[in-house]
Amino acid sequence: MFPTLSLIIPMHNEAPNVASCYERIRTILDPLGESWELLCVNDGSRDDTLARLLALREQDPRVTVIDLSRNFGKEAALTAGLDQARGDAVIPMDADLQDPPELIPELLARWREGFDVVLAVRSSRTSDSLFKRGTARFFYRFINRMSEVQIPEDAGDFRLMSRAVVDALKLLPERRRFMKGLFAWVGFRTTEVHYDRPPRAAGETKFNAWRLWNFALEGITSFSHLPLKVASYFGMAVSFFAFLYAIKIVIDTLVYGNPVKGYPSLMVAILFFSGVQLVAIGVIGEYLGRLYEESKQRPVYLIRKRYGPPVDTP
Ligand code: UDP
Ligand code: MG
Repeated sequence: MFPTLSLIIPMHNEAPNVASCYERIRTILDPLGESWELLCVNDGSRDDTLARLLALREQDPRVTVIDLSRNFGKEAALTAGLDQARGDAVIPMDADLQDPPELIPELLARWREGFDVVLAVRSSRTSDSLFKRGTARFFYRFINRMSEVQIPEDAGDFRLMSRAVVDALKLLPERRRFMKGLFAWVGFRTTEVHYDRPPRAAGETKFNAWRLWNFALEGITSFSHLPLKVASYFGMAVSFFAFLYAIKIVIDTLVYGNPVKGYPSLMVAILFFSGVQLVAIGVIGEYLGRLYEESKQRPVYLIRKRYGPPVDTP
């Protein structure tokens, strides 16, 4: 029999969290009487996460360990887990217990009511730094203005998805996977439950400001072409004003003679527009680079070894 519920946990250097995370999950899930599996994806950890996971698997065969060949990033690790999950309902979680397992019974209840996606929405972000809250807010405003797919604000990857949703996700062939966007893109009947996000249980966050910035770029370029068009509209506006300015110069010259002035305006215009041009080229570069990555068709992740039951046999 395939399990009813698959939990997916991507782990990168999460050794201090392995045991406590498993214990919390077990104490919540076992009384429910549901069959479940726990898929831990070791995303190139350099600490003893793998050893601890394997020890856990000795103890409880419902734990499957997927050891990736190196660090591929959270989105890839999550994709690996989704590809391997066998349950009728799938829930991705973080290893640091910031996604409280206590919410799982509620997610399951809503799924049984007939929803395909049950989003866990953070009612407060007090566990995040002011900087992260501010930038996250700005990011969601910005991306939801620009893209057709609406990405729910204050929802992370923590959610329940039915088998139909997971199978739909597997159809998406892109290599660069902004999961939150892909989750939103597939649609399906969605509902929400709310919770307070606790601070990280142990260890440190893997997402510093630079990684978050790149994550935001990934999201924007995956779900909007608008930045590519900005240059052309800006160019049109500038040309219009340049035309007006040209008329003014001609009239000035004809009516008042030609006093040789204009070095400052020339300099400002040159510097300003060189800057604008470089930015526009940079924007094209962001898209072109991603297009290049996609065209190489490399796999999203590589599995070094899988410790668990075969994927397609119950
Ligand atoms: N993670 C991963 N690969 C990475 C970075 C992070 O699998 O390259 C995992 C990490 O182990 C954790 C989850 O992604 O389970 C979320 O990471 P973190 O808690 O550091 O992010 P935050 O909650 O600070 O956004
Ligand atoms: Mg976290």
